[in-house]
Amino acid sequence: MTEHAVVIAGGGPTGLMLAGELALARIDVVVVEPRTSQHLDGSRAGGLHSRTIEVLDQRGIAERFLSAGKTMQVQGFSGIPLDISDFPTRHNYGLALWQSHFEPILADWVDELGVPILRGCEVVGFAQDDSGVDVELSGDTSLRAEYLVGCDGGRSLVRKGAGIDFRGLDPSTSWMIAEVEMDEEPEFGFRRDSVGTHALGQREDGKSVRVVLTERHLDHTGDPSMEELRDALVSVYGTDYGLRRANWISRFTDMTRQAASYRRGRVLLAGDAAHLHPPHGGQGLNTGVQDAVNLGWKLAQVVNKTSPESLLDTYHAERHPVGARVLHNTMAQVALSSPDDRHQALRDTMTELLGMDQPRRRIAAMLSGLDIHYDLGEGHPLLGRRMPDLDVHTADGPTRVFSLLHDARPVLLNLGEPGSFDISPWADRVRLVDARHDGVWELPVLGEVTAPPAVVIRPDGHVAWAGELADPELPRALATWFGEATPAQ
Ligand SMILES: Cc1cc2nc3c(=O)[nH]c(=O)nc-3n(C[C@H](O)[C@H](O)[C@H](O)COP(=O)(O)OP(=O)(O)OC[C@H]3O[C@@H](n4cnc5c(N)ncnc54)[C@H](O)[C@@H]3O)c2cc1C
Repeated sequence: MTEHAVVIAGGGPTGLMLAGELALARIDVVVVEPRTSQHLDGSRAGGLHSRTIEVLDQRGIAERFLSAGKTMQVQGFSGIPLDISDFPTRHNYGLALWQSHFEPILADWVDELGVPILRGCEVVGFAQDDSGVDVELSGDTSLRAEYLVGCDGGRSLVRKGAGIDFRGLDPSTSWMIAEVEMDEEPEFGFRRDSVGTHALGQREDGKSVRVVLTERHLDHTGDPSMEELRDALVSVYGTDYGLRRANWISRFTDMTRQAASYRRGRVLLAGDAAHLHPPHGGQGLNTGVQDAVNLGWKLAQVVNKTSPESLLDTYHAERHPVGARVLHNTMAQVALSSPDDRHQALRDTMTELLGMDQPRRRIAAMLSGLDIHYDLGEGHPLLGRRMPDLDVHTADGPTRVFSLLHDARPVLLNLGEPGSFDISPWADRVRLVDARHDGVWELPVLGEVTAPPAVVIRPDGHVAWAGELADPELPRALATWFGEATPAQ
């Protein structure tokens, strides 16, 4: 039986990102993916939020995505637009880029990093014991791994096999979604009626039309037929606009569920396998990619025996609340899009509120992922928050903080006098960078914060410690996050 340190079930956005993160940490990882190519039926996610672009920038690959899509103010709370162009980030916008384009670019990166993807193959079962997991694959083969990560989407076999509850709400609404060709030019834009909101949009090829229709009934199984799509168009618009061909037709609902635990022993969950919700606010793919970036370096350190297994508990502790918040805000967005007059009044009120500066900042920072704050205890406002991408001067010349994170290794960034901290007990794991920064430190929503003399930046870009190098908490923080000090030879 072939052995690997980590087997990832699923080569969608989450599984691919995790594969890349583990490969950067030189972990022997393999991805198991049923699709024979990265081709995706349907376009799914429409783009990336600011924090996801930042996360890709931290790995030096943001430009690949930016050049393939279109930067714009994409954010909306239940369709109420939110502008983030005044946010303190280099990426004060979203990126319009279909998931069907996003995935191949990410897969190319994973390929460059040398991660094998077993295509046309799926995980069909597994059994874990004290030292690892036997992973059964279709085609009567199996793999042995130290850890199995389920990035296998909303219907996750890994989640079910691990016996992890998927708690939440059953669907209340269903939407039909399709990409079609029509003989007549339809009425582009949104239309609201007593059933809900419907939308028709032109695809960038100029000839196909993207259709999203709220359905009257919930009791459907499987994808809709061409006839069902035609009937639904006629019932909303009074015509099918000469519907002649569908590239794909699908449906989604507002089912809202989250895994009770993101880990059971040697089995972990990330992405849609861990949290499922409707696409309102466009957060699913983004949350999955960020789960992967939180988990990758931790799992690598546990596999490398740099850190105890308990480090993996911080993955659930940090990411479960983020997922719960996404579920919560999508429930609110669904409620706000109810078509009746009372909800319309509520929507008008929310539109007015979100037109004010402070509410706009708070909600936009939440949707863009820029306000994520892991609870790492009391301390400097940066603690647990994302490190801003400051321009700094180092002995090697000018650079920016995100460039220091390209290899997914932790950094102790010293902005004070050099030479006052002995990094040697962690030098094999943590890079000490002496640097200078002359500007202000500004965080989304919080605004300007006092510049700390030094910060420890985790590989996911979150601040694990901030303060004076003489602070006795610094060695403790380094040991907590990156393993015990290596004794002097
Ligand atoms: C209509 C629609 C619009 C959306 N819009 C947005 C948006 O604008 N922004 C946004 O962020 N998100 C959006 N989403 C959500 C987004 O598509 C998902 O959150 C995202 O695809 C999750 O990525 P994932 O890798 O976790 O799971 P998936 O993309 O579901 O990937 C799971 C992978 O696992 C594989 N797999 C399945 N079973 C097995 C198995 N047994 N063994 C091995 N592999 C397996 C599958 O083939 C698949 O490749 C939208 C979704 C829909 C339906």
